[in-house]
Amino acid sequence: MDTASLREWFLTHQRDLPWRDATTTPWQILVSEFMLQQTPVARVIPAWEAWCERWPTAQDLARASLGEVIAQWGKLGYPRRAKNLHRTAQAIVENHHGAVPSDVETLETLPGIGTYTARAIACFAFGAAVPVVDTNVKRVVARAEDGDADGGHWGAREGLERVDAVSVAKTDDDYCTTQKALMELGALVCTARNPRCDECPLATDCQWRARGYPMSEAVLPRKQAKYEGSDRQARGVLLGFLREHPEPVHAEELLSMWSPRAQAERALESLLADDLVEEHGLDDSRQISLSWQPAHGRDE
Ligand code: SF4
Repeated sequence: MDTASLREWFLTHQRDLPWRDATTTPWQILVSEFMLQQTPVARVIPAWEAWCERWPTAQDLARASLGEVIAQWGKLGYPRRAKNLHRTAQAIVENHHGAVPSDVETLETLPGIGTYTARAIACFAFGAAVPVVDTNVKRVVARAEDGDADGGHWGAREGLERVDAVSVAKTDDDYCTTQKALMELGALVCTARNPRCDECPLATDCQWRARGYPMSEAVLPRKQAKYEGSDRQARGVLLGFLREHPEPVHAEELLSMWSPRAQAERALESLLADDLVEEHGLDDSRQISLSWQPAHGRDE
């Protein structure tokens, strides 16, 4: 793969994302990676800016209450990430003198940080020469190198090895820039459904293009999991209701916010299991509140 051309393309075409600014700290890059795990870039930008203004460091976030953290997370979705981010801030303060660890192994011990996020932080925040492999990156490498429409069939280890193999460079800086460039190319040019090969720096040697774009199951339109009517939506409705009620509400009143009843109960059970809400009393007097409400002496 012509990674030199790829890096050159990246340096002139990359999006102006705020967490790529030279003044952004490793902690703020870590925050961006948590937010980007399941939320699109356009929605993350304003949320990340507001977050970093309110809590610029891990110490600042560690001091905040879980209630403040979840409220600030707002509508980014999957609020478990906010909880993990809060716990990660506390772990960094307690175990790492307030500094984000720079090596993959230590990063992977922090709450909410797995294979991808650990490598993204090590590479983007510290310039480490480690492969950063997401769906977009796998797709670009599978197309350009193998002539396959998608790399979705690669297991985690194979993905890391394949991306590492094409990224070998004289300097860590070049290796790291290649990771960013692969990701950006997959997001902007070599997209799943409409690759813009005439704008691609890898077009000359791209195997998928040379073979006439053979399709695979992996790129056929897949059914998106529907949000409307899903358990996720039910959880969101119950959480939204509780956010508007600082005092505990009767469980029946809360469950009546969603229909069908069985799904409302399932959503409530999962919120309890995730420690996002808590219950008081039993049976007819059962009441529910957000876990972090000061009236119950937690996190305040
Ligand atoms: S030439 Fe087309 S298919 Fe090949 S890597 Fe570039 S955008 Fe993707």
